[in-house]
Amino acid sequence: MSRIAMFGGTFNPPHNGHIAAANACVKQLMLDKLIFIPTAIPPHKALPALTATAEERLEMTRLASQLVPKSVVSDMELARGGASFTSDTLQSLREAYPDDELWIIIGTDMAETFERWHQPQRICDIARLALVARGEGEKERIKAYAQSIRQKFNARIDIIDNTPLEMSSTEARGGRNEQLPESVRGYISEKNLYVDVDALRDVAKERLSEKRYLHTVGCEQMAVKLAEQYGGDVKIVRIAALLHDITKELSLQQQLNLCEKWSIIHDYDSDNIDAVIHADTAAAVAEYEFGFGARVCSAIKKHTVGAEIMSLEDKIVFVADACEENRTYPEAEKVRQLAFSDLDEAITYIVRRTAERVAQKGKKPYYMSEKVLKAFSKDRERNGE
Ligand code: ATP
Repeated sequence: MSRIAMFGGTFNPPHNGHIAAANACVKQLMLDKLIFIPTAIPPHKALPALTATAEERLEMTRLASQLVPKSVVSDMELARGGASFTSDTLQSLREAYPDDELWIIIGTDMAETFERWHQPQRICDIARLALVARGEGEKERIKAYAQSIRQKFNARIDIIDNTPLEMSSTEARGGRNEQLPESVRGYISEKNLYVDVDALRDVAKERLSEKRYLHTVGCEQMAVKLAEQYGGDVKIVRIAALLHDITKELSLQQQLNLCEKWSIIHDYDSDNIDAVIHADTAAAVAEYEFGFGARVCSAIKKHTVGAEIMSLEDKIVFVADACEENRTYPEAEKVRQLAFSDLDEAITYIVRRTAERVAQKGKKPYYMSEKVLKAFSKDRERNGE
């Protein structure tokens, strides 16, 4: 007879509190298997506005389960869809493991509401309850809940003697990430989960003049349209657009201070540093102040002069910056048309125009412009280079 526990939750995202609780259960209950089961629609609480998708929660739970020996992850509730009633899940587990001892792992907050769950008696008939404290000073409360549940449902209950780790997914979604496993933290950053875009727009509003804020929001809207047309990542371009000019109104000295603070190495000369350094400092703000991942930072860093190698999102932000609806220079409409017909042609057109204007002012364009033209110009293809 095996000893098997289910650990259900929204896992939005899974955190070290879940992992510590799971590990304590594996050890103290001498489990042969612990099954993490992310819920489809949690019956006990609404999914928050800033939520990861079901697939993302499943993937993060898989990453977290690698830190718990004997554990596996099941998508049975997600596959079943609808409200995830634990009694139904346990019934399925009982059918899959007819002769084994089953537990359900429950934290203090869930233990408190257990009597109001759907079919608590059925749950207690199928499985033992393993109660884990989420915070210091909860041990007495847990004992009281256990006593009450035992009396009402004739439940078999094990109180786990764990060292509580005070952490919640709510805090993680709010930006507290030191109690997330590194793999989960990396996934969240890579996928830009739990980003409050409205709050980011407020940051832009706070830090920029009205004119540049309007440009920023225009850039966001254009970038989203282009991402939808070309199949780019809407979230990445939206965030990059909102932050692309976030340092542009700082003085050169302030920008150089940021370069020093974040060890930004650049090779701009005096002809171009004023116009382009903000791309580097804004990318650093995105990375170090807001914790955004490489794809967002790349789009910000490349938005002014471009680069020989640009991802789809890099290209979209670059082009959106030049042709958002508030841009009124004579060729803006032409750039808008190119943007929706051929991104590479739009890039070539924008870079060539900028280089000409820099030259007209008697300055030398940054050497990267030439390289970008070479990389994206269709003439090159036509000439068979
Ligand atoms: P949210 O903050 O979004 O409400 P949560 O942190 O409570 O989420 P869930 O995925 O809803 O996490 O929790 C799943 C299960 O894990 C529940 O039984 C819950 O009580 C338990 N649990 C959550 N956090 C901890 C923790 N820090 N220690 C022990 N158990 C926990």
